[in-house]
Amino acid sequence: MTVGGLVLVATPIGNLGDLGRRGEDTLRRATLICCEDTRHSAKLLAHAGIRGARLAVCNEHTEAARAAEVIAAIEAGGTVALITDAGTPGISDPGSRVVRAVLDAGLPVSAVPGPAALIAALVISGLDTSRFVFDGFLPRSGTERRARLESVAAEARTTVLYEAPHRIERTIADLARHCGPQRPVAVARELTKLHEEVWRGTLAEAAAHLAGRPPRGEYVVVLGGAAPAPPPDDHDLRADLRAELAAGADRRAAVAAVTARHRVAKRRVYDLALGLGPA
Ligand code: SAM
Repeated sequence: MTVGGLVLVATPIGNLGDLGRRGEDTLRRATLICCEDTRHSAKLLAHAGIRGARLAVCNEHTEAARAAEVIAAIEAGGTVALITDAGTPGISDPGSRVVRAVLDAGLPVSAVPGPAALIAALVISGLDTSRFVFDGFLPRSGTERRARLESVAAEARTTVLYEAPHRIERTIADLARHCGPQRPVAVARELTKLHEEVWRGTLAEAAAHLAGRPPRGEYVVVLGGAAPAPPPDDHDLRADLRAELAAGADRRAAVAAVTARHRVAKRRVYDLALGLGPA
């Protein structure tokens, strides 16, 4: 049980049985519980047998304004618990602004860790878990979306994304277009719930799997990282040398640039440059 300060308490992402003992105790003893939606959190508290809790709404609109009340409660010696509708606060959810404000006031912040959809999906995806990137929700449209898709496509580490049910089909199609149809993916749905499903395959297969299905539930997409680029062959190196020379570099500078870019032996690039004829 954590006493004093602001405590971020992770709550279930579907299965109420996932609220741990320490989270429950912290909520029971908190002076104030900040939550996104009081009706939603009341169900969790009722399930845990917690009655008479003081609740305050802390969502994306009220988070900044709520900070002063949180700080006052902590300064008065209280413990403020921060929860969201599901999972870990601050992960694609409110939390980080209150954390910043409490830290800036010189007060303690701690966490009762627990469910997070991204971690649950990642560890059962079958993809590389040693290094990964969490990219939240993709921007919905325009150049921002295209730029993010391009950066996801180039990422060598496993990427975890959140997606709403009505956008999952389009997101998988966009990912297939940018990353190539053969990129491995796991699409996790309704984790910890009755209809939990984890689908694993390539992006092209995922698109076929989702086509025409009613988009139900909440989704996490776990995407395998981009394969390292194959080592350049002589043809690639010659083409690059020609481009450097055409841009005005002399032979020496062109060899240096191409060697550095491709991390290959300088002698090899030099010999290829000689084979191009007089510089
Ligand atoms: N803070 C939460 C966490 O720690 O995972 C995430 C909150 S974010 C607003 C909600 C998104 O998380 C959903 O759109 C979905 O992508 C993902 N999510 C939450 N619960 C899930 C579940 N049970 N199964 C699959 N995805 C889930």
